[in-house]
Amino acid sequence: MSCHISNFSLPRRCAVSNPVNSSQPKADSQAEGSTIDNESTIAPADSACAAAKYRLYIETVGCQMNMLDSEMVVADLRRHGFAVTADMRDADAILFNTCSVREQAENKTYSALGRLREFKLRYPEKIVGVLGCMAQKDQGLIFERAPFVDLIAGPGQLQRVPELIRAARERGGRHTAVSLGRTDGKLEVIRRSHETFDPLRDPAMRPTPFQAFLRIQIGCDKFCTYCVVPMTRGPEQGRPPQQILEEARILADQGCKEITLLGQTVNSYRYRDGDRTTSFAGLLYLLHDVDGIERIKFVTNYPKDMTVEVLNAVRELRKVSPYLHVPAQSGSDEVLKRMKRGYTVGDYREMMSRIREHLPGAAVSSDFIVGFCGETDEEFRMTVDLVEECRFKNSFIFKYSEREGTKAAANLPDNVPFEVKQRRNNELLEVQNRISLEDNRRFIGTPVEVLVEGPSKKSLREGEQGDAVQMTGRTHCDRIVVFPGHRRLAGQILPIGILDVTPFTLMGTAITTRSNNDLVQLSVSGPAIHPS
Ligand code: SAM
Ligand code: SF4
Repeated sequence: MSCHISNFSLPRRCAVSNPVNSSQPKADSQAEGSTIDNESTIAPADSACAAAKYRLYIETVGCQMNMLDSEMVVADLRRHGFAVTADMRDADAILFNTCSVREQAENKTYSALGRLREFKLRYPEKIVGVLGCMAQKDQGLIFERAPFVDLIAGPGQLQRVPELIRAARERGGRHTAVSLGRTDGKLEVIRRSHETFDPLRDPAMRPTPFQAFLRIQIGCDKFCTYCVVPMTRGPEQGRPPQQILEEARILADQGCKEITLLGQTVNSYRYRDGDRTTSFAGLLYLLHDVDGIERIKFVTNYPKDMTVEVLNAVRELRKVSPYLHVPAQSGSDEVLKRMKRGYTVGDYREMMSRIREHLPGAAVSSDFIVGFCGETDEEFRMTVDLVEECRFKNSFIFKYSEREGTKAAANLPDNVPFEVKQRRNNELLEVQNRISLEDNRRFIGTPVEVLVEGPSKKSLREGEQGDAVQMTGRTHCDRIVVFPGHRRLAGQILPIGILDVTPFTLMGTAITTRSNNDLVQLSVSGPAIHPS
């Protein structure tokens, strides 16, 4: 089924890699930002691609959940004879794993599909599929706007992708697998229609072999008025702790050192089995005992569930990162009420005091939406004040994007002009960047402990050759560090002395001692490692 197409003008990658509608740190690392990576990511090619029966091209937009979903889809399709190609012209199946959180993310997928139209007309045997949140939310619209699409699968139905591809290949026509809507039946039946197939893992799909996402929670029940996630990912469900533990052990056996626990409100995690309940803190204790796992991170947190129990667990457990991503969304009570976030600015402040008391030195980051329905200048100023006061490590700032199917779209006019949203976005970003720079400056002259990920973005962009390149990694608190080093340092946890900083990146040098037989040994010298 594979065929190579040489004289065709389709770009190798279909979608552009510009961040979508968000203002966030632009750091020189492979996976910048902490919760949302709006760049589209293309799965790297398999070495055995040429020999495979079928070839798959998959491009992912959106958050870490989507990255993990793509990992699962690839794992599954490999079992069905597919190998991954990074060149869509070579692919037998072209899949887009999509995001619906903001309109621009959807536009990006529609543009990519638009560019594919002529190609698909010339090569109708190639299967084109749309997966993920857009597939769940907009099945009909996708077929309307891109009639050549062969298959659609929502995030809760991804295990059916191989079957859908086979059906499209053998029978032609359109094939759809989506989960039930929030009012389409009994809760238990809706839940089951959103189940994931996480135990299927594929180490080759991860950004690095020593880092992996681990989903502990599916869906969301918070129903913030602006957000589509409760509709696209269904009801909130904690995965059974034994399943999570088993997966962590398998990841550790595969050489994974760092796991990032994923959930829309990860710290609200709860699993009931008879009269036994496992809380998020309880789960952290269980995971901490998994040999081989050195670091445990978790995103995203809900402010009201940042309890003393959770904070104490993070303090007591050496492997758990004292890095807390807790989106505030706004500094105004009125806006929070219109967003139906379920807390006040006072509650958020109390949470910050709790963090400072029980986990001093923790790095806290946040998300904000600017220009939400009816946001006045005064309300926006309150958000600026909150950012000044909380001094977040970093913030992801989004211009409000009206989403069909949400309470806000139905009841609240999207009445803040685009230019005002843009201006507020820039102003808040400027404030946050100044704070991030001030915060980072205190690391100059101190060593920090870094899990090395690989060559930096700059190094890859500039095509650095040889063994010594600019490497990148992250501290325990998720700060991005770049330093000159050998490629083979990837996967090691090393002390790096910090020499200079930007708002987004610490720049340093590996701390080394040279032994007489020329072996470079890394050790900590100088002051104690900073709890960074
Ligand atoms: N579950 C997480 C939480 O509650 O913080 C966030 C999930 S959402 C995918 C990531 C971020 O996107 C949110 O924190 C919010 O700032 C932003 N977001 C969600 N819906 C949005 C919308 N309609 N317009 C702009 N930004 C939005
Ligand atoms: Fe969306 Fe709110 Fe749920 Fe986060 S908590 S996923 S913002 S509804």
